[in-house]
Amino acid sequence: MTTNTQWEAVIGLEIHTQLATKTKIFSGASTTYGAEPNTQACIISLGMPGVLPVLNEDAVRKAVIFGTAINAEIAPYSIFARKNYFYPDLPKGYQISQFELPIVGKGFLDIEVDGETKRIGVTRAHLEEDAGKSLHENFHGSTGIDLNRAGTPLLEIVSEPDMRSAKEAVAYMKKLHELVRYLEICDGNMQEGSFRCDANVSVRPKGQAEFGTRAEIKNINSFKFVEKAINHEIERQIELIEDGGKVVQETRLYDSVKDETRSMRSKEEANDYRYFPDPDLLPVFVSEELKNEIRSNLPELPEAKKVRFKTDYKLNDEAATILTSSRDLASYFENVVKAANCDSVLCANWITGELSAALNRADLEITMSPINAERFAGLVARLSDDTISGKIAKQVFEFLWNGTESADEIIEAKGLKQITDTGAIEAIIDTILAANEKQAQQYRDGNEKMFGFFVGQVMKAMQGKGNPAEINKILKAKLT
Ligand code: ADP
Ligand code: MG
Repeated sequence: MTTNTQWEAVIGLEIHTQLATKTKIFSGASTTYGAEPNTQACIISLGMPGVLPVLNEDAVRKAVIFGTAINAEIAPYSIFARKNYFYPDLPKGYQISQFELPIVGKGFLDIEVDGETKRIGVTRAHLEEDAGKSLHENFHGSTGIDLNRAGTPLLEIVSEPDMRSAKEAVAYMKKLHELVRYLEICDGNMQEGSFRCDANVSVRPKGQAEFGTRAEIKNINSFKFVEKAINHEIERQIELIEDGGKVVQETRLYDSVKDETRSMRSKEEANDYRYFPDPDLLPVFVSEELKNEIRSNLPELPEAKKVRFKTDYKLNDEAATILTSSRDLASYFENVVKAANCDSVLCANWITGELSAALNRADLEITMSPINAERFAGLVARLSDDTISGKIAKQVFEFLWNGTESADEIIEAKGLKQITDTGAIEAIIDTILAANEKQAQQYRDGNEKMFGFFVGQVMKAMQGKGNPAEINKILKAKLT
């Protein structure tokens, strides 16, 4: 068996993010996902002879937004290059990408693993066009080609080989995923392929300065698979070397069903692609004005928001982390606090508790929540002013989830108001004590557990509407 204590893994990720532009990077064809095959394949996507690409300004803008957010240098001047290779889903015979002068240069991203912060370098991020898709199902021995995706703008984000475990790689990938959604430059939909990852993995004996030979695992589209694929690949390389073999530089595929990686092709070198500047496209100039305008309009980023949530709303680290995990969830929370006008921690508890659990069960994003922020605020407000107890609030929550009324309407219609009237509570307690004399005696003889029994009986008799503090107080007095 291998001993990982003698080996260190080195990982670098290349992440393809699909930029959320309305149209393709070099044409006016739509980028909407899921259309009938080839209905969004214009003459540019098809690579017809004689057609000319025109750069989409919004793709450039989104790349600059990303670069600004990771503190990267934005190239004042960048160019597009042709990356030549033959594949059926690439009719031009080359992909338009950036090679020598990418639009985004060196930047960084801080990740947190096991309570420690680590800085991961971003080498570069470049603009390129996506290829089409080969369809193997329903074609009976032949392959269908769908060019709807051809020409969709991608930003390929290349990291430094700074990660040392699958866990760090996943943390980096999640951080990046969160960031691009915050910036609203990518929808982050991993099932649809809007955010996918190639993982470069090598191992070296601990203490060795040089890197080992790497293998690249292509196109992994879930956080879970990235972790599994990398861990599997680390094991494979260690075993191979310990058995006297050598890692070869190659491209591998991860098979999630078998949980293994297998060789796809030997790694091509940059010169195999015969990169050269695309003569059809002008260089891209990013002006100081554009850079400044983008910098001053950058939305509040996750880290800053988290700090603000902790100070302004008195949230603990866990709640602040959850509530800032997406921009939509964060604004939902802020809208609830504003509308409920009460304890922000109580709002946070009910959002991260009851609401998140229900959304999870229904597999819904916060934006699809059947309870909008205003109605949810109505619930928390009534909890906060003691109109209802926590227990009743869960019932009200169910009605809110399944209906359209406000919390106040539900409380009124169902008669769920908490009873704080001491006279009413006292009368019920008297009846219960009279009916349970034996248990009352047991309590007086020192069996403290009996107290809970009585609280339960009273609550039951009051259908959960009794004010718990009041019930406790009166019971205590009557039982001594
Ligand atoms: P290519 O374009 O051929 O894929 P790059 O030099 O651009 O090669 O590197 C691609 C990725 O591989 C980068 O994320 C980089 O950090 C990572 N990488 C480079 N060398 C190693 C190595 N020895 N082990 C692990 N990752 C590496
Ligand atoms: Mg690569």
